[in-house]
Amino acid sequence: GYRARSAYKLKQLDEDADLFDSGNTVVDLGAAPGGWLQVAAEAVGEGGTVVGVDLQRIDDLEDHDVETIRGDMTEERTRHYLREAVGEGGADVVVSDMAPNMTGEYSLDHARSVHLARQAFDVAEELLAPGGDFVVKVFQGEDLDAFREDVGEEFEYVRTVSPPASRDSSSEVYLVAKGLLTAPVEAGD
Ligand code: SAM
Repeated sequence: GYRARSAYKLKQLDEDADLFDSGNTVVDLGAAPGGWLQVAAEAVGEGGTVVGVDLQRIDDLEDHDVETIRGDMTEERTRHYLREAVGEGGADVVVSDMAPNMTGEYSLDHARSVHLARQAFDVAEELLAPGGDFVVKVFQGEDLDAFREDVGEEFEYVRTVSPPASRDSSSEVYLVAKGLLTAPVEAGD
């Protein structure tokens, strides 16, 4: 079984958007307790690499060789550890299920969610190899469209998905961005 019901959301996203291939390197942000790590590790197989980061400690996954980092993704030193763990080859897929502690104040929760999602976007741009994919959870609200546009500029396409497994908490959606574009060569001046 999976550690978190959210595992089924990632399975669904993978089925719809064909995220993981065997042998891939996957980065999972906001990975505790580890449901997504289990799904990613199954999908990439023995030859793959999965690295998870969370503020919370993640108990070892018995059946899978997954590296975990305890840290805050808004801090540079956590990103440093993550870069080291991923190595030179970069990542094929970056997924983020990060969510803020809910205050119940809708606009504040939304703003914090978008802030975390933008952190994940930065990390994705930094770590993904060209052609890589990015999935990020974000709460719906006024800043979502602008965020989606920014993501869309860096990938072949971006879709907004509400997996059936998450329809109970209706304010969250996932942006699924496929195919990181290579930076255009700057014209000399
Ligand atoms: N995908 C996970 C699974 O399947 O087990 C569930 C993730 S849970 C919905 C969201 C996680 O985001 C929480 O464990 C929380 O600690 C983490 N998180 C929130 N802010 C974070 C931050 N700044 N840095 C790292 N993790 C963060």
